[in-house]
Amino acid sequence: MQTAKRFFSLEGIDGSGKSTQIDMLIEKLTAEGYSVVKLREPGGAKISERVREILLDASFKGVMGDKTELLLYNAARAQVIHEIIQPALDAGKIVIADRFAWSTFAYQGYARGLGAGMVQKLTELTCGSCFPELTVVLDLTVERSRARTVKRGEAPDRLEQEKADFFERVRQGYLAAAREYPECVAAIDADRSPEEVFGDLYKLIKSRL
Ligand code: ADP
Repeated sequence: MQTAKRFFSLEGIDGSGKSTQIDMLIEKLTAEGYSVVKLREPGGAKISERVREILLDASFKGVMGDKTELLLYNAARAQVIHEIIQPALDAGKIVIADRFAWSTFAYQGYARGLGAGMVQKLTELTCGSCFPELTVVLDLTVERSRARTVKRGEAPDRLEQEKADFFERVRQGYLAAAREYPECVAAIDADRSPEEVFGDLYKLIKSRL
C-alpha cells in the first residue's frame, strides 16, 4: 500500500476515545507550531457530509444494502481527498482523520463480511497513494465502549443500532489490520485514562514527524 507522509488516522469502535484523543493531539501539535487539519469520516467536505446523512439515517436500517454502504463510504472519502486532504498535504500540513479507510476494512470488509479483497480494490481506486502513513487503533472491549457512549445520551444512528457481536467483529477486524499491516497500523490499549492513552498515541505520531 502506498502511503502519504503526515497523514494520520485514528480508528476504534464508537466510544473508544477517538475524538477525545484527536482533540488532545491537535492541541499539542498546534502548540508545537505544526499546522494541522482535522477531519471526521464520513464527512469533512459538503458533499461528503450529505453522504454521511444518508449513511447514518436510522430510517434506512434494514433497507440499505451492504454494497451500497460500501460504495457510499468510498464516495464520501473520494470527495474529501479531492477537496481537502490532498491539497492540505501538498501545502505541507498534517492531516488527522477521525476514521478513514481502515473503518471500511473493519466494518464492511470484516463485520459485514464483504471480504478484504473487495474493500482493498475499492480503497486503491478511492485513495490511490492518499492513504494514512500511520493509523492508530484505540482498542477497547465492546462492553467498555458501550458504557462510555450510553453516558452521551444521544439516540443511536443506523450503525450504532447494530448488536454487540457486530462490534466485536469490527474490533477483531481492527486487530487483524494491526497484525497484518504493522508498518502502518498500530493498536493501543484504550482502557486507560485519557492521559495514559495519549502518551502512547503522541509517541507514535511523533515518531513519524
Ligand atoms: P469516540 O470518538 O471514539 O466515539 P469519544 O472520544 O467521544 O469516543 O469518547 C466517548 C466517551 O468516553 C466520551 O464521553 C468521553 O469523554 C469518554 N472517554 C474518552 N476517553 C476516555 C478514557 N480514556 N477513559 C474514560 N472515558 C473516556
